[in-house]
Amino acid sequence: MKCPKCGAETENGKFCLNCGAAITTSQTANIATPTNNNISSNQIQQQLDIQREQLRIQQAQLNLQVQNEAKK
Ligand SMILES: [Zn+2]
Repeated sequence: MKCPKCGAETENGKFCLNCGAAITTSQTANIATPTNNNISSNQIQQQLDIQREQLRIQQAQLNLQVQNEAKK
């Protein structure tokens, strides 16, 4: 792994042997941000799909009510 601050090659450790900067935490944070954005956009699309399904069900129920009232 390379140190994000000084770029020195370091062995498997949490801190750079050259400058003492923390290594693993900053890299995982940089990787985690784009995946979180993908997950949130997927969740928004799922919510939109659920809302569309609910609208379809409401419209179907309204159509049934109109048909029943027309029969009366
Ligand atoms: Zn370093």
